Amino acid sequence: MKPSVLCWALGVAMLGAATAPGLGQVSPGRLQPGVPMQTVPSDHGVYVVFLGTGMPRPDPTRQGPSLAVVVNGTAYIVDAGTGVVRQAAAAFSRGISALQPNTLDIAFLTHLHSDHTLGLPDLILTPWVMGRVTPLHLYGPTGTRAMVDGLEHAYAEDIDLRINGLEHSSKTGHQVDVHEVRPGVVYQDSNVKVTAFAVQHGSWKEALGYRFDADGKSIVISGDTRPTESVVQACNGCDLLIHEVYSLERGENAYFSSFHTSAVELGDIAARARPRLLVITHYVGGVKPNPAQMLQEVKQKFSGPTVIANDLDVIAP
Ligand SMILES: [Zn+2]
Ligand SMILES: [Zn+2]
Repeated sequence: MKPSVLCWALGVAMLGAATAPGLGQVSPGRLQPGVPMQTVPSDHGVYVVFLGTGMPRPDPTRQGPSLAVVVNGTAYIVDAGTGVVRQAAAAFSRGISALQPNTLDIAFLTHLHSDHTLGLPDLILTPWVMGRVTPLHLYGPTGTRAMVDGLEHAYAEDIDLRINGLEHSSKTGHQVDVHEVRPGVVYQDSNVKVTAFAVQHGSWKEALGYRFDADGKSIVISGDTRPTESVVQACNGCDLLIHEVYSLERGENAYFSSFHTSAVELGDIAARARPRLLVITHYVGGVKPNPAQMLQEVKQKFSGPTVIANDLDVIAP
């Protein structure tokens, strides 16, 4: 069975090298390009909601990098880019109950670059303001605790006023249960096993990718990385490989080749990782991005199904 692609109202995906506006909109478990989606995903099964697919440039059509792996009605957030909670609210308003903002209480950070963490105070505070009483359980690399401590300090007066003022907010819902993790299994519950692996993101001392195993499906998220063998090993025939990319159309430079993966290099990674579906996010193009050219660069080495994720796309393995 092929992976299914559910393209949400705001999303337009592309398969292979073809630009195909309006493609997708299918039911879980089937790939039916062009068929309007009739139903929202059920609370059962596994799928990914792309909350933000952008990068640092403030593109108004792409929020900061963030996604939710949804398993049996529970959302596991990966990265907290700009707009993370509002995008969750948008998905919730379209019927994805797992993304009700005041229920968001578990997240994983790939690394601490600002584009991946600008939404962290939002994820800590907004669900609490909206009624969450449990702490946010947050997993990330070394430095996550210091970042959270700094945010708690920055918002100390707000937190005090909301708890002790007329709002009577919960005393616990703003708290963060921080887990600084190393490569290996970092989280497991009845839905999912999450395994972190080290990637190479320029001069960052620690950057992580994550593999989610749930319901017999495997989803591998590269985080930000230059071409890294650990991604190939973590995927190894996985259902979904979600990977960052930059297009050679923007030209080579030392920063990009050290911190990120070119589309040609991604094709090589994917050819060896053998995902059933390659999903591209955090795509850095040229001044006027040319997705068709970028997909051709991937295709030099990888001929399998490839999708560029857009904000609020829903993709099921
Ligand atoms: Zn990034
Ligand atoms: Zn980064």
